[in-house]
Order: sequence, then structure tokens, then C-alpha cells
Amino acid sequence: MMNRSEWAQKAAAAALLVLLAACGGGDGKGEGDGEQANDSATAAAAPGDTGAASGAQPGQTANNLPAGPTTQLPPNELGRIMVLEYHRTGSPEGEFVRTLENFRKDIRTLYEAGYRPVTMRQVLEGNIDIPRGTTPVVFTMDDATRGQFYLTANGEVDPNTMMGSWMSFKRENPGWGPGGMVWCILPAASHPSNFFGETKDRDTPREQREANIRKKMEMIVRDGHEVCNHTLYHARLDRAANDQQAQDWIGIGEDSIKAYLPQDYDIVTFALPLGMWPRNKPLAWAGTYRNGKRYENKVVLEVSGGPSVTPWDTRWDPHSVDRFIVGPGQLERQLQRWEQDPTNRYVSDGDPRTISYPATMAQYLNRSALGGRTPREVAGAPAAAAPAAGGAQPAAPAAGGTTGR
Ligand SMILES: [Zn+2]
Repeated sequence: MMNRSEWAQKAAAAALLVLLAACGGGDGKGEGDGEQANDSATAAAAPGDTGAASGAQPGQTANNLPAGPTTQLPPNELGRIMVLEYHRTGSPEGEFVRTLENFRKDIRTLYEAGYRPVTMRQVLEGNIDIPRGTTPVVFTMDDATRGQFYLTANGEVDPNTMMGSWMSFKRENPGWGPGGMVWCILPAASHPSNFFGETKDRDTPREQREANIRKKMEMIVRDGHEVCNHTLYHARLDRAANDQQAQDWIGIGEDSIKAYLPQDYDIVTFALPLGMWPRNKPLAWAGTYRNGKRYENKVVLEVSGGPSVTPWDTRWDPHSVDRFIVGPGQLERQLQRWEQDPTNRYVSDGDPRTISYPATMAQYLNRSALGGRTPREVAGAPAAAAPAAGGAQPAAPAAGGTTGR
């Protein structure tokens, strides 16, 4: 069982390690304590122009949700997906800071361009059940900061957080689907990364603080999001005093998160703080702590790298999954690249039992990873693509674009 005072002590002992400076590269203040309240209310209330596309879809997804805007791109399930990486809300923007307004814009833009959220667990298990003509996208939320997910005094999700924005978008656009966000949590960090930073620990009675955490974790699980371990308090694993300390940071971190999760919840995803590996690299994948207790991280998230391959691809390595940092202009540029040249963009065939890909990608098919799914080579190069059915994106020339890496 978890020992709260033990990890609390560890956290206190790690006085120098203020994760926010670490993760955010010291680029400023800017927790989004609601400073974008006004814009966001309008943004969230704006009607989505998704009607045309949903109407154009012959069917619905397996979850009986409207398909929402899709593309007419031919399927390419050996294409790449973005594992987006968000940290804090605030202003000005930087590599690790996104305004709440732009986070909302990201969701809407992705939806209208035919992207659908899936969790890392879904990717790992190959459980990517999204409508034909759409592209999976993973949202990873690092560091459990206040601007990500916060409960107001009456226990409601603050609408001026990333979680609140997501919920409001999903209410208006059910086609956004059942997939969710991957919350990479630091259970023993200090405010404002102490489990979504309600208050400084000493400012809220322990029972109330724990009740808040429990409630948030319940919502995360209930809404189809995923919980990811990001170590106890964001210490750099390469600076651990020894192998055991690195394993403790990971293993006790996982235990401390699991104390708030259903008993059978299996955490499969782990995010390396700052992308730094332990000196003994395999300890990021599995290890032991506390008298032989064992952890296993089936997915290890890097801190950068660009769009990632998926499990059917010979180049897939779940022990080192690239992420896409949503810094200023970066997501916009990548979406533009894939508009111009979708060769490397994953496009679903709408049937989770088949893996469809163009002949040009056949060399990357890992048959041993199909797990009973049927491979299907499709005619037509992805570059000869039609524009998005939703009409939100202009038709793009097939040639001349750069490929998304
Ligand atoms: Zn982090």
C-alpha cells in the first residue's frame, strides 16, 4: 500500500526540484487562473459548422455517435499520428504554455479537419475505432497543473480549464467521440502541480484535498480518459543517485496515483520527465521497488520527436513513443503540412478489424502485430486526396508539400 507520509517526505526533500521550472523551461508564470474566461465562453458557445459532414456520413461509429466531419482521404493505417503534448495554460505562449483560447481552438480545428481523440492505451492495444476518413490524435496533459483541471468551490469542473473546455466541446460535438486525454500525473509534486493544484497542500485540510483528488480521478476514468504516471515529482531520472532511486520515483509514483483509482486500474503509460532516461535505460520500462513490488510501463512517452508511427508499423516501439509539443504555431504548421501532402497521415478505414494501407506503405506492415486483424492493401496514393468532407479545410494541392515527420 501507498504510504503517504513517505512520499510527502520525499517531495519535501526534493526542495530544488520545482517541476514547473523544470518542465516549462522556466518560461514564466502564467497558470491560467481564468484570465481567458471571456473569450472562452464565446468560443465554446460558437456553433460548430459540422452539420454538413455529419449528414454526409452513411453510418455512425460503433458507439452510436455521429461521425462528425471526416475527410475523403483514402485509408492509410500505416500513417503517422500526433501524440500532442500540453503542459500549462497561460500567456504568453511558449513551448510548454498554451493559452486556453488556443487549446479550445486546437480541439475545434482538429475536429473539423477530421481528427478524433484516442488514448495511448487505445493506440497500444490497436483499439482505434474511429470513423472512416478520420485520423486519431492523442492528447497528453503533463504535470497535473491547476489550469488543466480544477474544481470550483461548489465542486463543478471549472469551465476555464482544459478539462472544462473539453467537456463543453464534447457536449456540443458528440462526434468528437469517446476517446480522451492522457493525464500524466505527479502525485507528490508541490503546488500548483499537486494533483491539478487545488491549493498549497497546507491550505486545504487533507480530507478535503483527498476528496477532490478522488473526485477528479473518478471523472477522468468515467469519461474515458487515461491516467499516466509521470514520476512522483518530476525529478530527472538521469540524475537519480542510483538505480533504486530511479525505480522508486517511478514505482512509488505509480502507487501513489493508484491509491485514487479503481483497484483493477492498470496504468500502462509513463511519461519521462523532460524526456530524460534513467542511466540504466530499461528501468523506464520495468523495475522493482519497495521490497520487490514491480512496475511495468508498456508505453514510455518521449518529450518530443514529431508524429508517431502506430502498432502495425515495423518502426513502432511502444518503449519510446515520440510526442508532438504544441508550441506556438507548431500544430498549425503540421496540420497545414498534412493538408498539402497527407502521404504520412494516418487515415482510418472505419473498420477496426481491418488494417488498410496504400501499396507504397506495404514495406512497413508488421504482420505479426496484427492480432487477428485483416491487412488490406488499397488502391490509390494518399496524395491524390480529396478535400475534407466537412468543408472546413480548403482543397489542397497534392504535390509539393513536405511530409510530416
Ligand atoms: Zn512534465
